[in-house]
Amino acid sequence: MSESRKNLRLVLGDQLSHSLSALQGTNPETDMVVMFEVMGETTYVNHHKQKIAYFLSAMRHFAGELRQTGIKVHYVKLDDPENTGTLSGEIKAAVARFRPETLILTEPGEFRVLEMMRDWSESLPCSVEIRNDDRFIASLAEFEAWAKDRKQLRLEYFYRELRRKTGILVDTDGNPEGGSWNYDAENRKKLPKGAETPTPPVFETDAVTSDVMTLVEDLFPSNIGALTTFNQPVTRLQALEALDHFVSHNLRSFGDYQDAMKTDNPFLHHSLISAPLNLGLLSPMEVCRRAEDAWHAGDAPLNAVEGFIRQILGWREYVRGLYWMKMPGYAKTNHLNAKRHLPDFYWTAETDMNCLAQSIGQTIDHAYAHHIQRLMITGNFALLIGADPASVNQWYLEVYIDAIEWVQLPNTHGMAIYADGGIMASKPYAASGKYIDKMSDYCAKCRYTVKTMGEEDSCPFNALYWNFMIENEAILSNNPRMGLSFRNLAKMAPDKKKRVITSSQKFLSDLSSGNRV
Ligand code: FAD
Ligand code: SF4
Repeated sequence: MSESRKNLRLVLGDQLSHSLSALQGTNPETDMVVMFEVMGETTYVNHHKQKIAYFLSAMRHFAGELRQTGIKVHYVKLDDPENTGTLSGEIKAAVARFRPETLILTEPGEFRVLEMMRDWSESLPCSVEIRNDDRFIASLAEFEAWAKDRKQLRLEYFYRELRRKTGILVDTDGNPEGGSWNYDAENRKKLPKGAETPTPPVFETDAVTSDVMTLVEDLFPSNIGALTTFNQPVTRLQALEALDHFVSHNLRSFGDYQDAMKTDNPFLHHSLISAPLNLGLLSPMEVCRRAEDAWHAGDAPLNAVEGFIRQILGWREYVRGLYWMKMPGYAKTNHLNAKRHLPDFYWTAETDMNCLAQSIGQTIDHAYAHHIQRLMITGNFALLIGADPASVNQWYLEVYIDAIEWVQLPNTHGMAIYADGGIMASKPYAASGKYIDKMSDYCAKCRYTVKTMGEEDSCPFNALYWNFMIENEAILSNNPRMGLSFRNLAKMAPDKKKRVITSSQKFLSDLSSGNRV
């Protein structure tokens, strides 16, 4: 019997949405969905074990759901003996087997995969249709139209435009609810001593996830992370449960404590939905509407709801537009000419600096750190030591369960280490230990002293901060947002400046020699 199919429809690991454009118009009689687990995608960087397990488990569950609706799915598992190991190899094999008229695709989340797709258009003996990914609130064309002719691409203005477009938290006269577009100034509180935070929901490991975990342990034994703490929503139903749990238990405090950090408390009031959102198990619009409804119902204050919605309607949409507008050149910039390799403790958490040990330790345990840990602890440290963008970007792409390049790269390359020279951030997010002490309890439990600089037990961030300013003065001193810092540097006594340089050099040399810091 002929296996031929009219259309093959590809679903990638981050395209697990029943509304996916490539699935629109599927005829179960004539069409076939194809899904592939391939080594090429699991090894192009050394992903965290939980990241691989999450993608594979969610893909297998999604294929099961499609089959339940009567759609035929050709699913190739990672350990299938016939598996060619690459997306291109699998596509070629599927086209040869099913001889479709058309291969239907949705634009991918990474530039390197788009290049593969373009290659398929040239090389396959069928037509190839690449459809827009319409699971975002703004199309790429809308972002480009907004960005065109602007000198600076600041999030705030794009965000306001999307608020107006969607009507989210906008009153009937077109004004922002509560009179202000942004309540960020209210959202910078430290978590009070003794404050309790809710326990995240628990997702049972079913047979599908359990099989995947065994496979990951077998094939990737030395990748970072452990699977014993795996606790992710692997289906849409579970993702909705995660969203419900956040709205009921955490949203009301999300705003106040979104920048706070606390020892041995990785999740605080965060939503933990970036991974199911990025895989397509939730839609950004439904998440924003859910939060808005909670405000209307009086269940959460405006500063919390606006702050949360800004992350998704604002930042998430903005970084996607920026990535696709600026790639492939974006990833190659190195504005601060940074060259140092990331220290080994980024893979082990073995450092005496408690802020880094905490942020990296929970990353190893859960493939998760919240925004301020990624930006102001691991990102800030990488910026201050002048870590080279390629190694920083690779680390972030490897270790976080939600890391797909369209969202990881601008956040890392642009926001955290300023390698794009200010396309994304108006100034580098460089900070001394003072900021970390203000927003966390880390310093109280650290062997270093946050209040001093340049002494044997002084917080390394303090001297490194000023050393960063000294080393980058020629590049950064004309940035108007850095005027105050450079005026303070100019006033610094020569002996203090000397201490900054000497202790930073000693610290950096210890880092290079692999000495414990
Ligand atoms: P919450 O704090 O509850 O926020 C709610 C949602 O807002 C998130 O789930 C996410 O979808 C969205 N969001 C928040 N901030 C951002 C942002 N800056 N950009 C895009 N979306 C945002 N996010 C990723 O999804 N993947 C990444 O690879 C990634 N890498 C990052 C690297 C660095 C250096 C930095 C500073 C941030 C990065 N982020 C990334 C953004 C943010 O840190 C994560 O989205 C967030 O920590 C996920 O946890 P959560 O779901 O509990 O988020
Ligand atoms: Fe981090 Fe410095 Fe505070 Fe230690 S003292 S936790 S190194 S900021």
